[in-house]
Amino acid sequence: MSDTLDHKALQVLLERPALRRLLEAYNGAVEETRIVGGAVRNALIGKPLSDIDCTTTMLPEAIIERAKKSGFKFVPTGIDHGTITVIVDGEPFEVTTLREDVETDGRHAVVRFGHDFELDAKRRDFTINALSLGLDGKLYDYTNGVADLAARRVRFIGEARTRIREDYLRILRFFRFHAEYARDGLDREGLEASGLERQGLATLSKERIRQELLKLLVAQRAQETIRTMAEHGFLTWLLAGAAEFGRFARVADFDQGNPVWRLAALAVMVEQDAERLREHLRLSNDEQKKLAAYAQLLAVLKTWALPFDGSAIRRLVAEHGVETLNIVLAAIRGEPAPHILGDAWIALENYRSGAESVPVFPLRGADLVERGIPKGPKVGEILSAARQAWLAEGCRTDEAYAKDLLNRVLAQA
Ligand code: ATP
Ligand code: MG
Repeated sequence: MSDTLDHKALQVLLERPALRRLLEAYNGAVEETRIVGGAVRNALIGKPLSDIDCTTTMLPEAIIERAKKSGFKFVPTGIDHGTITVIVDGEPFEVTTLREDVETDGRHAVVRFGHDFELDAKRRDFTINALSLGLDGKLYDYTNGVADLAARRVRFIGEARTRIREDYLRILRFFRFHAEYARDGLDREGLEASGLERQGLATLSKERIRQELLKLLVAQRAQETIRTMAEHGFLTWLLAGAAEFGRFARVADFDQGNPVWRLAALAVMVEQDAERLREHLRLSNDEQKKLAAYAQLLAVLKTWALPFDGSAIRRLVAEHGVETLNIVLAAIRGEPAPHILGDAWIALENYRSGAESVPVFPLRGADLVERGIPKGPKVGEILSAARQAWLAEGCRTDEAYAKDLLNRVLAQA
């Protein structure tokens, strides 16, 4: 082969025992089943596979029948649009009946089951996502996907503008797949068409946008792709607010690919941003909490009056946790405020590596009850005052200190 792709990896893929069992059960004299999409694409460029999708001439009921006969477990995940999850030796595979679009309205597609692998390929989004692989090792490429993959180009199948009008989510997928797989700049035709159809994004559900955006934020070339999106007017709308590229870049260089921290760095400046983003992107409670924690700590650090030293770090890891502190400090590194001293970085690293343990507040409700405070809201109030004092006094954890603290708060109560 003249391209730079790893065609041997396809053979390795086909030798995976569970997948092989599946394909052997689902191929016969009449029926044909192939691996399709992301798994083929990633094998060829040596990237890890996320999930393995198969496409088949068999109808959903036949997929289920065959699973039963072969002793495979199955889940009718998306039976209406032809997808059954078949589980072989504990490994799940999405098996989907070949499809053809009958009708599209920019958000939903009406599909009918088909018999034609080529039509199924052509209704997919990008050329690199439309490759399929037969049990015999033959690679099928109806859209010039191999050449594009070798050149690391992300291009729409067919006319970009038409394809976007069928499903506006493809605009975000275009940026996401570019950020993950492309080598050079964005495909001109795709970018132009995305710009022209931008208003169509407003018709999409928040859930679909959320999913693509979070994946985009952790893609390999997220930083420059996000900037390009901003230059072309996509970002303010997606975030419903302003973006901080410097902080995003520093956090992206620092974290291990956490989409929520990256969203925080990019789009959270004050606590209200967390609330707005939750609504705008239908974030989960946990995700919103993370954004809010980021905002709160950011506010604390930005208004810290004195230079920041090791004891300030001790207090902040006790109050906000090591992870959040690390992220916020990474985000604002190099900014004029606060002024962070060298020993602060050393202290932070010690907490991060576990060389130093994070101080834990030494009193519990039971300690107060034991000393005669009746169970109830009073216990919480006293504990919270004690915790404030503990934080202000250096987060000591030795027993003598804990005893003294207990006596003092009781005397005040
Ligand atoms: P990943 O590794 O990110 O999961 P993937 O290629 O598996 O990559 P998915 O979003 O899981 O991406 O989609 C699976 C396949 O379905 C794609 O490769 C593509 O062929 C097709 N596909 C998914 N969404 C669309 C869409 N909106 N329009 C057209 N084709 C799509
Ligand atoms: Mg996938």
